[in-house]
Amino acid sequence: MKLVLVEGDITEQRVDAIVNAANSSLMGGGGVDGAIHRRGGPEILEECRALRASRYGRGLPVGAAVATTAGRLPAQWVIHTVGPVYSRSEDRSHLLASCYRESLHVADSLGASTVAFPAVSTGIYRWPMADAARIALAAIRQAGSSVTEVRFVLFSPAAYAEFEQALGDMG
Ligand code: ADP
Repeated sequence: MKLVLVEGDITEQRVDAIVNAANSSLMGGGGVDGAIHRRGGPEILEECRALRASRYGRGLPVGAAVATTAGRLPAQWVIHTVGPVYSRSEDRSHLLASCYRESLHVADSLGASTVAFPAVSTGIYRWPMADAARIALAAIRQAGSSVTEVRFVLFSPAAYAEFEQALGDMG
Protein backbone atom coordinates (compact mmCIF):
# COMPACT_ATOMS: atom_id res chain seq x y z
CA MET A 1 0.00 0.00 0.00
CA LYS A 2 1.27 3.44 -0.97
CA LEU A 3 0.83 6.16 1.66
CA VAL A 4 0.74 9.69 0.27
CA LEU A 5 0.47 13.06 2.04
CA VAL A 6 -0.89 16.10 0.25
CA GLU A 7 -1.92 19.55 1.36
CA GLY A 8 -5.31 20.42 -0.09
CA ASP A 9 -9.06 20.06 -0.14
CA ILE A 10 -10.45 16.53 0.06
CA THR A 11 -13.50 17.38 -2.06
CA GLU A 12 -11.20 17.88 -5.08
CA GLN A 13 -9.46 14.51 -4.89
CA ARG A 14 -9.69 12.12 -7.83
CA VAL A 15 -9.76 8.86 -5.93
CA ASP A 16 -12.28 6.03 -5.70
CA ALA A 17 -13.46 7.03 -2.24
CA ILE A 18 -13.05 9.98 0.08
CA VAL A 19 -13.62 9.67 3.81
CA ASN A 20 -15.84 12.13 5.65
CA ALA A 21 -15.24 13.10 9.28
CA ALA A 22 -18.97 12.98 9.96
CA ASN A 23 -20.98 13.08 13.16
CA SER A 24 -23.31 10.35 14.40
CA SER A 25 -26.41 12.05 13.00
CA LEU A 26 -25.10 11.72 9.41
CA MET A 27 -27.09 14.89 8.72
CA GLY A 28 -24.11 17.06 7.82
CA GLY A 29 -22.23 19.59 9.90
CA GLY A 30 -19.27 21.95 9.78
CA GLY A 31 -15.68 21.46 8.69
CA VAL A 32 -14.93 18.77 6.13
CA ASP A 33 -18.47 17.33 6.50
CA GLY A 34 -20.02 20.63 5.43
CA ALA A 35 -17.63 20.96 2.49
CA ILE A 36 -18.41 17.43 1.24
CA HIS A 37 -22.19 17.92 1.36
CA ARG A 38 -21.94 21.39 -0.22
CA ARG A 39 -19.83 20.29 -3.13
CA GLY A 40 -21.26 16.79 -3.50
CA GLY A 41 -24.87 17.95 -3.66
CA PRO A 42 -28.11 16.63 -2.13
CA GLU A 43 -27.77 12.97 -3.20
CA ILE A 44 -25.32 12.35 -0.38
CA LEU A 45 -27.71 13.64 2.29
CA GLU A 46 -30.54 11.64 0.72
CA GLU A 47 -28.58 8.41 1.17
CA CYS A 48 -27.60 9.44 4.68
CA ARG A 49 -31.27 9.94 5.55
CA ALA A 50 -32.06 6.50 4.15
CA LEU A 51 -29.33 5.00 6.34
CA ARG A 52 -30.82 6.73 9.39
CA ALA A 53 -34.22 5.32 8.46
CA SER A 54 -32.85 1.77 8.14
CA ARG A 55 -29.56 0.44 9.54
CA TYR A 56 -28.60 3.40 11.72
CA GLY A 57 -31.79 4.57 13.40
CA ARG A 58 -29.77 5.67 16.44
CA GLY A 59 -27.00 7.21 14.38
CA LEU A 60 -23.65 5.90 13.17
CA PRO A 61 -21.61 4.82 16.22
CA VAL A 62 -18.26 6.47 16.99
CA GLY A 63 -15.48 4.48 15.29
CA ALA A 64 -17.81 2.96 12.66
CA ALA A 65 -17.95 3.69 8.91
CA VAL A 66 -20.55 3.49 6.14
CA ALA A 67 -20.52 4.44 2.43
CA THR A 68 -22.81 6.54 0.26
CA THR A 69 -22.60 7.94 -3.24
CA ALA A 70 -20.24 10.89 -3.69
CA GLY A 71 -22.86 12.77 -5.74
CA ARG A 72 -21.14 15.38 -7.92
CA LEU A 73 -17.70 14.96 -6.41
CA PRO A 74 -14.94 13.44 -8.55
CA ALA A 75 -14.76 10.44 -6.22
CA GLN A 76 -17.19 7.57 -6.59
CA TRP A 77 -18.05 7.07 -2.91
CA VAL A 78 -18.01 8.95 0.36
CA ILE A 79 -17.17 6.77 3.36
CA HIS A 80 -18.60 8.44 6.46
CA THR A 81 -16.89 7.77 9.75
CA VAL A 82 -17.47 9.28 13.18
CA GLY A 83 -14.36 10.27 15.09
CA PRO A 84 -14.27 10.53 18.89
CA VAL A 85 -14.27 13.93 20.56
CA TYR A 86 -10.83 14.40 22.14
CA SER A 87 -10.69 13.97 25.90
CA ARG A 88 -7.78 14.70 28.20
CA SER A 89 -9.18 12.49 30.94
CA GLU A 90 -10.06 9.41 28.87
CA ASP A 91 -7.98 7.61 26.24
CA ARG A 92 -10.17 7.29 23.15
CA SER A 93 -7.39 6.49 20.70
CA HIS A 94 -8.79 3.00 19.99
CA LEU A 95 -11.92 4.73 18.62
CA LEU A 96 -9.88 7.01 16.40
CA ALA A 97 -7.88 4.00 15.11
CA SER A 98 -11.17 2.20 14.51
CA CYS A 99 -12.34 5.01 12.16
CA TYR A 100 -9.39 4.33 9.86
CA ARG A 101 -9.63 0.53 10.11
CA GLU A 102 -13.39 0.45 9.51
CA SER A 103 -13.18 2.94 6.64
CA LEU A 104 -10.62 0.74 4.89
CA HIS A 105 -12.81 -2.27 5.56
CA VAL A 106 -15.71 -0.50 3.81
CA ALA A 107 -13.36 0.52 0.96
CA ASP A 108 -12.37 -3.13 0.53
CA SER A 109 -15.99 -4.21 0.41
CA LEU A 110 -16.70 -1.61 -2.30
CA GLY A 111 -13.65 -2.61 -4.32
CA ALA A 112 -12.19 0.90 -3.95
CA SER A 113 -8.47 0.89 -4.50
CA THR A 114 -7.62 4.55 -3.87
CA VAL A 115 -8.91 6.28 -0.73
CA ALA A 116 -8.39 9.81 0.61
CA PHE A 117 -8.69 10.61 4.31
CA PRO A 118 -8.88 13.90 6.19
CA ALA A 119 -7.33 14.16 9.66
CA VAL A 120 -10.37 12.77 11.49
CA SER A 121 -11.24 14.40 14.86
CA THR A 122 -8.62 17.18 14.56
CA GLY A 123 -11.06 20.01 13.87
CA ILE A 124 -14.24 20.59 15.85
CA TYR A 125 -13.41 17.45 17.89
CA ARG A 126 -10.08 19.03 19.00
CA TRP A 127 -7.70 16.05 18.79
CA PRO A 128 -4.07 17.32 18.82
CA MET A 129 -2.69 16.97 15.28
CA ALA A 130 0.60 15.24 16.08
CA ASP A 131 -1.08 12.56 18.16
CA ALA A 132 -3.90 12.11 15.64
CA ALA A 133 -1.33 11.70 12.84
CA ARG A 134 0.54 9.00 14.75
CA ILE A 135 -2.69 7.07 15.49
CA ALA A 136 -3.95 7.42 11.91
CA LEU A 137 -0.76 6.22 10.24
CA ALA A 138 -0.33 3.27 12.62
CA ALA A 139 -3.96 2.17 12.16
CA ILE A 140 -3.64 2.29 8.38
CA ARG A 141 -0.43 0.32 8.35
CA GLN A 142 -1.96 -2.34 10.55
CA ALA A 143 -5.27 -2.58 8.72
CA GLY A 144 -4.24 -5.26 6.20
CA SER A 145 -6.43 -3.73 3.51
CA SER A 146 -6.23 -4.33 -0.25
CA VAL A 147 -6.47 -0.58 -0.94
CA THR A 148 -3.44 0.34 -3.07
CA GLU A 149 -3.19 4.05 -2.24
CA VAL A 150 -4.13 5.89 0.94
CA ARG A 151 -3.88 9.63 0.52
CA PHE A 152 -4.01 11.93 3.53
CA VAL A 153 -5.38 15.31 2.54
CA LEU A 154 -4.21 17.89 5.06
CA PHE A 155 -5.95 21.21 5.11
CA SER A 156 -3.08 23.42 6.32
CA PRO A 157 0.71 23.55 6.08
CA ALA A 158 0.86 22.88 9.86
CA ALA A 159 -1.25 19.72 9.55
CA TYR A 160 0.87 18.55 6.62
CA ALA A 161 4.05 19.11 8.65
CA GLU A 162 2.70 17.08 11.59
CA PHE A 163 1.82 14.15 9.32
CA GLU A 164 5.19 14.33 7.60
CA GLN A 165 6.92 14.22 10.98
CA ALA A 166 4.77 11.28 12.17
CA LEU A 167 5.47 9.38 8.95
CA GLY A 168 9.20 9.99 9.37
CA ASP A 169 9.08 8.84 13.00
CA MET A 170 7.48 5.55 11.92
CA GLY A 171 10.41 4.78 9.66
P1 ADP B 1 -13.92 16.61 13.36
O1 ADP B 1 -15.30 16.96 13.85
O2 ADP B 1 -13.74 15.12 13.16
O3 ADP B 1 -12.85 17.24 14.17
P2 ADP B 1 -13.57 18.61 11.21
O4 ADP B 1 -14.19 18.62 9.88
O5 ADP B 1 -13.90 19.72 12.15
O6 ADP B 1 -13.91 17.16 11.85
O7 ADP B 1 -12.00 18.60 11.05
C1 ADP B 1 -11.23 17.49 10.66
C2 ADP B 1 -10.02 17.99 9.89
O8 ADP B 1 -10.40 18.27 8.54
C3 ADP B 1 -9.41 19.30 10.42
O9 ADP B 1 -7.99 19.14 10.46
C4 ADP B 1 -9.84 20.33 9.40
O10 ADP B 1 -8.88 21.40 9.28
C5 ADP B 1 -9.85 19.50 8.14
N1 ADP B 1 -10.66 20.00 7.01
C6 ADP B 1 -11.67 20.90 7.00
N2 ADP B 1 -12.14 21.06 5.75
C7 ADP B 1 -11.41 20.23 4.94
C8 ADP B 1 -11.38 19.96 3.54
N3 ADP B 1 -12.23 20.55 2.69
N4 ADP B 1 -10.47 19.05 3.08
C9 ADP B 1 -9.62 18.43 3.91
N5 ADP B 1 -9.59 18.64 5.24
C10 ADP B 1 -10.47 19.54 5.75
